[in-house]
Amino acid sequence: MHELSIATSIVETVLQEMQRRQLPAVETIAVRVGALSGVVPEALEFSFSAIINGTPLAGTRLAIEQVPLQGKCRNCGLDFSVVEFIFACPHCRSGQIEITKGEELEIAYLEVSS
Ligand SMILES: [Zn+2]
Repeated sequence: MHELSIATSIVETVLQEMQRRQLPAVETIAVRVGALSGVVPEALEFSFSAIINGTPLAGTRLAIEQVPLQGKCRNCGLDFSVVEFIFACPHCRSGQIEITKGEELEIAYLEVSS
């Protein structure tokens, strides 16, 4: 039920934002979900649509952007995409990798109807 608590916090954050900015309605909430965040997009979508009923967000679309895993080699400095969770530099084979992208879980932007 990891996704349910995430969906709840997204909804709470956006409702606060709507109040603060006096937004009449939000059409789309775009979120960025990293490959390492452990979030299943389908489960997040399902939880979201279940909890927005009866809130000012009923009818709002959740747009999930999946962020692939990106690493940087500490040995040769190469930036590369981590595929199939192989944590080694494709250039020098070093295992000294720093994960630079893929752990995020954030609201990217809100699309507001005018
Ligand atoms: Zn390298």
